[in-house]
Formats: sequence, C-alpha cells, structure tokens
Amino acid sequence: MSTTIPHRRRFFTPSPEKAIRAVCKGRLAAYLSAEAIEDVYRAFRFAEQGHRGQTRKSGEQYIHHPIEVADTLAELKMDSRTLMAALLHDVIEDTSATKKEILDTFGEDVALLVDGVSKIGQIKFDTKEQAEAENFRKMLMAMSEDVRVMIIKLADRLHNMRTLSSMEPSKQKRISKQTLEIYAPIAERLGLYHWARELQDLCFSYLHPQRHRAITKAIEQRQGNRKLVVEKLKGSLEQTLSSSNLEEFKVKGRQKSVFSIYKKMQKKKRSFDELFDIYGFRIIVKSIDECYRVLGIIHNTYKPIPGRFADYVAIPKANGYQSLHTVVFGPLGDNIEVQIRTQHMDQIAEAGVAAHWIYKSDGSNHDSSNHLARQWLLDLLDPAHQTQNAVEFLEHLKMDLYPDEVYVFTPRGDIKKMPRGSTALDFAYAVHTGVGTHCTGARINKSLVSLPTVLHNGDSVEIITSKNSWPTTSWLNYVVTAKARTQIRNYLKAQTQEDALRLGKRLLAGATKQRLFGRRKIPARVRTALLEEFHLETWSELLIDIGLGKRIPDLVARQIAQLTDDRVEGKVVGQQALVIKGSEGIMVTYSKCCSPVPGDSIVGILTFGHGLAVHVFDCPNLSELRKQPENFLLVDWDEAIDQNFQARLHVKLHHITGAFAEVATAIAANSSNINHVDLHEGSDSVRQIDFVVDVKNRLHLSRIMRAIYRLPSVSKVMRQKG
Ligand code: MN
Repeated sequence: MSTTIPHRRRFFTPSPEKAIRAVCKGRLAAYLSAEAIEDVYRAFRFAEQGHRGQTRKSGEQYIHHPIEVADTLAELKMDSRTLMAALLHDVIEDTSATKKEILDTFGEDVALLVDGVSKIGQIKFDTKEQAEAENFRKMLMAMSEDVRVMIIKLADRLHNMRTLSSMEPSKQKRISKQTLEIYAPIAERLGLYHWARELQDLCFSYLHPQRHRAITKAIEQRQGNRKLVVEKLKGSLEQTLSSSNLEEFKVKGRQKSVFSIYKKMQKKKRSFDELFDIYGFRIIVKSIDECYRVLGIIHNTYKPIPGRFADYVAIPKANGYQSLHTVVFGPLGDNIEVQIRTQHMDQIAEAGVAAHWIYKSDGSNHDSSNHLARQWLLDLLDPAHQTQNAVEFLEHLKMDLYPDEVYVFTPRGDIKKMPRGSTALDFAYAVHTGVGTHCTGARINKSLVSLPTVLHNGDSVEIITSKNSWPTTSWLNYVVTAKARTQIRNYLKAQTQEDALRLGKRLLAGATKQRLFGRRKIPARVRTALLEEFHLETWSELLIDIGLGKRIPDLVARQIAQLTDDRVEGKVVGQQALVIKGSEGIMVTYSKCCSPVPGDSIVGILTFGHGLAVHVFDCPNLSELRKQPENFLLVDWDEAIDQNFQARLHVKLHHITGAFAEVATAIAANSSNINHVDLHEGSDSVRQIDFVVDVKNRLHLSRIMRAIYRLPSVSKVMRQKG
C-alpha cells in the first residue's frame, strides 16, 4: 500500500461543515427524523469547536475522523444517540471538554457512551498477553453497561485502520497486531462480520504486505473466470427456485476476504486454487418456513455434502446469528456453500448486535433476540460479575455459550481454556507435564484445595508441587483431559510390571481388608469366577490392572466380597452396559437426589443393598456420606455410553397462554422426552415448573436448556441437583 501524500489529501477533503451536511442529508435523512438529525448536528458543532486547530497525521482537520466514525455507524443505521456519541468520542480525551459538560448539553446516555469509549481508550495493552487478564475484563465491563460503547470503539478503530497509511511503519505494525488480536475478534463475536473482515484484511496488509499482495493478485487474475462461474451457478440456483412458488427470494454471490483465504491456506494446508474454487451463495427469503423449503429444494436438486449442514435457525449462535448453512455439489462439479436466511436474519447477520439498536420507526428498539446478545456479554464478564445470584447465573449462561469449556487464570494472569469438569490436576498437567507429575495440591482463588477439585470459569489456579510427590493410580480418577490421563498412564506404565503387581497387591489387600469378614484368603472359586467375569487369564494380570489404575481396587474388593459371602446383599448383576468405568458386575444406581448425567463429575458410594450409588461431585446430600471415606469412590464415566439419563429442570415462565406448550415443544424438538412434570403454584405473572427429562449427557442437556431459555416466555432455566 502506498503512503498518502498529506497535501493532496487535504486538497480533496471538503470542509467539515460540508462533510457533516453530506452525512445528514445522505444516510441520516434516510432513516432519522429531522429532530434527531438536528441533535446529531449539535453534537458535531460541539466536537468541531473542541477539536478546532487539531490535525491528524494525514494533515486533514481532526474533526473529519469523528465524522467518518459517525458515518460508518450510520451505515448500520444506528440510533441518533450513538451517532452523537461517535461525534463526541474523542472530546474528553483530546479537548478541554468534560464529562459533566457533555452530560449537561446532551444528556446522560450520550455522556455515558462518550465516557465509556474514552475509558476503553485508556486501557493500555499492546499484546494479547497484557490484554488477556485484567484489562480485557475492564474492557468487557465498559461495554457490558452498554454494548454501543464497544460498537463505537470498533467504528473508531475501523477508521483508524483505514487511515493507517499515514503512520510510521513501526506504528502500523503495532496497531495492526493489536487490532487483529483484540478488536477484530470482538467485532466477530458481536456479529459485526463485515467490520471484522475489513479489519482483518487491513491488518493483514500491514503485517504481511507481500503475502497480502500475492493473494490479492491471485484473486484478481482468476476474477474473470470466476465471475463467469458465479453467474452460471447463480442462474442455475435462481432457475431452480423460480420453478417453486416462493413469494420472493434473492440470490447473492459471496466474496471471500483475502485474510480468510490466507487463514484457510495456513490451517487446512490447501492451495490457493482449491480454496478459491469454493463458491458461496446467500439466499434471502421472506419467512422461516421458506428457509426450510428452499433448503429442501436445494438438497433435492444438488447432492448435499454429508456433515456440512448446520441449522442456526433453530439453534442460533450465541450472538444471535441465524441462518441455514449447507454445502452441495454444484452442477459444474464445484462445492457450493449456501446460506439461507430471512431478511430479518440477514439484517442481524450484517449488523450483529448493532441490529438491536437499529432505529425503528415506532421509536422502540426492543428486539426479542436482544437478550441473547446481552446474555453473551454478561457471560463473558462473569469472573468479575459477582452478583448475588451469580451461581444460578453461571449455570445456565455458561452452558449456553461455552457448553464444554471453562476459562481459568494462571498466577501470571494468562488465560487457559480447559474442558468443563477439568480438575486442578488436569490444570497442573496443562501447565507442564513436570508440574503435573510433582503436584501435591492447588490454590484456587488463594484457598488451598485438593487435586480432584473441579475448576470453574474465572478461577485463578496455582499448583503446589513437591519433588517427593509422584502420580498414583488413583490420579486417573481425578482427571478428564486426555493429556493428563496419557501422562499419568505413561508414568505408571514406565514403572515395571513388578512395581505394578506389587502396588496392585497392596491396594487390593487394603481394599479387601474390611470386606472379607475376617477371612484372609480369597477362595479359589471366587478368583476363578472373578477372572471369568473380567475376561482375564491370571490373577497377576488382575493385580497389574489394579496397579496400573485400570481397575478400582475398592470395586474389585466389593465384588470379591459378594462372591465370597452370601450374607452380602446385592448379588452380582449380569452383563449390563458399562457406564461407570471398572464397574463390571456391580449394580450401579443413579441417585435421585442429584440425577447425574454423563459429563458430570461424579463420585460413587458403596452401599449395602444398592451397589454403587452414583452422585454428582457436589451433591449436597454427600456431606454426611463424606464422613465415611472408605465407602467413597472417585469414579468416572465410560467413554461410550448409549442410554438415557434423567435430569431435573426448574423453569420459570411468565404466565402466558401456550408458554407451557412451547417449553414442551422445545424439549421434544431436541430429541428428549418429558418423564415428569410438577407445576408449582405461582403468582399471576410467574409460573414455575419442574421437568424431568431424558438426556444423553451434559451437552445434550445444555442444548435443551438453551432451547428453553431462548423462548420469550421463559425467564429462567436451572438444572436441579439435590
Ligand atoms: Mn478516535
């Protein structure tokens, strides 16, 4: 990219007065009232006076920058208050004006927006590392009060990136890096895909000018041929659709961004041509019903590629994005990516969260999907967002957005992403294998905890190590991550078979001690029966299994006791699907109090008459039982489980006719059954219902909860444990 010549630029720049008039008469007049436009103009006057005499690096008067920022926001049809704040966004920072003055002149909301944007500007971060912890939280906090703050900040950054060529090269690189790492992802998460793409492309052109040039050139060279193919495909799609009786539809070709092609080349290790020859189309229709009809027509005409269909209409993305996505084999032998959506969905997809503030002619800007965007923001925040009902909050909001991840902090403030259910021990291995191998305990949020402690979003975790500590077989019960499990297994395997045998013997002896009613030896018939049950040849194999952590000593002991003594209640049950690892032959029950489902961290309690009773790790009923640690086992789900579990959901509804049916439909639509319903007496406006539903696992459950929570009549969904 060539550097701009300041003088020439100034020569072509109209006066500020002319520039703002053009914006007002153009974009603003198209959707704002005369009064609203007058307000915007007042904000311009105020800013223009403040910035008078200031110039930008390019040489033009400073006020052109806020005008451009406001104009960019007007492209999204943002409300007039946002545009006013955009015009004023630099006055607190760069002029003598105060927040108080803005408040008195333009009102509280505009003042808060301007103040919020200024605050983000003050946050110092140059790298992802610095931004990650505290500063990032501060920024999210600033935008949580009003997302418009972040939207203005993004428009500000977009204009700065568009005019970055007048900066020195070192500054260009620094700002591009920051933008690519922080602002572009935020734009993406807010659903402002257009901005995100432009920011990425601009950053890419400054960070890797040669690669950017090469890809741009390659695109240009193939453009001619591509245009032809796009036209042909578009024509064939249109023809297919017009033969059905759709009310109205639009087919648009989609252009891939330079940066997205580069990213895919890197990630998928494909050549430019392979990527470039994928064609994207968007079909806009009138109603949701027609979305699915169009999908049916497309799939009937072209062969769909398996596994590439996604229904974001029924299950919108966390930022509110809705669309049907599919990939089909095109008539010319190419893959065609098709997105199908309604006009309203398209508007949201183009403007992201900004769509919620889009000016509506009736003056309202309330949007039913608005709570989705807010929900997302509040969730992002919640390590810092400790309201009184934070726990409830966490349960459904987290599941909604990151159904299978938690984010925790290292003592240095770095963020680590862990699978949900991960323990302090998993974390230790995630930090470094050496840390895992020698860890003895952990501090979570400064208080001492044991290794099996489950991590929660926002926890800061510090691992305590000791040179004299080594993994034991029981550790395998405390971890959920593949890395930790493999490392522990590797360590255990590295011990000799003899070590494992000796350890297995000792562990089993310890476990059988209290269960054999004084008998010292295990009768031969019991050994034979047990080996048969486990499909093992020799007793040593069993002991080695125990020593290597493949079998839980207490469970083996329990089975030995059952086989040895008829007085022990609860016969060995026959072949049943293995749901809890190592529980062959043991009767397993799932506690009604907490209703565990696969994916939950669980513990097993050995009880006479009930076999192994499985509870969730934090079941409130366990506090009593914890006093008998010898019956307390850390158990783990088997990997392949194919059965239904029951989960209890507590749902709060606004008392609206049909609300109950909506919830029931949402449950059924997510391949679940309702087993039981309890209606609580409620006030006139609020109704509380408990549902017992079938689920496969935690993810399935979170999907159901998400679907319920999304219903406008639902104010709260909670899973009940205990
Ligand atoms: Mn600015």
